Amino acid sequence: MRNLPVPGMDALALFDKITGEKRGEVSARLGRLRRRISSAYASYQANTDALQTIASAGIKGVREKALLHAYNSPTATMRSIRDNLIYPNIEDFDECPYCGINDPKTLDHYLPKETYPEFAVHPLNLIPICHICNSHYKRSQFLDGGARLFMHSYFDTFPAFDFIQLQVIVNREVILSFTNSSDPANPDFSILFGRHFRKLGLNERFVQKSAAEISRKRPALRRFYRNGGAAEVAQVLQQEANDFRVTLSGNHWKVALYSSLAGSQDFCDGGFLRTVKIR
Ligand SMILES: [Zn+2]
Repeated sequence: MRNLPVPGMDALALFDKITGEKRGEVSARLGRLRRRISSAYASYQANTDALQTIASAGIKGVREKALLHAYNSPTATMRSIRDNLIYPNIEDFDECPYCGINDPKTLDHYLPKETYPEFAVHPLNLIPICHICNSHYKRSQFLDGGARLFMHSYFDTFPAFDFIQLQVIVNREVILSFTNSSDPANPDFSILFGRHFRKLGLNERFVQKSAAEISRKRPALRRFYRNGGAAEVAQVLQQEANDFRVTLSGNHWKVALYSSLAGSQDFCDGGFLRTVKIR
């Protein structure tokens, strides 16, 4: 999981361009909505640290349809917004910022367009994430009892703390269990992270990815074990964790995986040869 730089786009100017590119009634309806859109965009910008407080503008009927049309039937400007967000100029951007697993090739409406059609084409409300997070887990969810359920990749900045923990148990199989931990210095962030972790089913998804990762590493680990025993296996795994911490940040599942495996004497002392329990 990671943060993304805030996209530097003039949201209202882009809305105006889309309005100009649309035809007939849709264009006219978008034009008539401009004042409400302008005020909604100002509210979004002013509340990036409290997005849960933004009230829906209550736009319904044909006007709501026009806003959704602006997103669902993209004009050249909407397509360029999409391309700029999905293909940003970031060298290592090939993983979903919500999960750190799959390609981030879909746009999430952080404030769902079903409830907040006014933000259907607002770049700051569009986060490039993977299809699995978007369609299987987040869908049109946003709040529960007034509290946000997911981290916003532009505005919820990770404190320097490892929020992903992993317990490793070696029996007849290797049993992995990912959990979220709390940073005493950042209680609100910790609670938000915990909801994000659970709502996206990250334990199960991380276990699945970890099993595949371990299975591919097994031949190399066998070699290190023959050369230098458990100590060498632990050292190699720890080195891997250190490298991933630098390249992927401390809150990536691979950092939790490799550092916890390195810390498991049972795993390093031949346990890596056993199958990982997936479910
Ligand atoms: Zn994802």
